[in-house]
Amino acid sequence: MITISCDVCKKKLDESNYGRTFFFYANHSICETCKDNLEFSAKSQVRARTPFSMDWYSKFMRDSLDKAVQKGRI
Ligand SMILES: [Zn+2]
Repeated sequence: MITISCDVCKKKLDESNYGRTFFFYANHSICETCKDNLEFSAKSQVRARTPFSMDWYSKFMRDSLDKAVQKGRI
């Protein structure tokens, strides 16, 4: 059995909960809590962004997640 853990907080994830309590995002597995925190912390910058584009948004979210994985927290 393959054990998946959150790339940010290292919490063990149950593979059967994919799409429900854990997600794959930008080549990382991420738990629901970290996903919520990531979106929450990005919110103010996303709102302030002009002009806004989905390309920018995807890159911004990927970069934010990469940083969070390196730091081990959002
Ligand atoms: Zn996590």
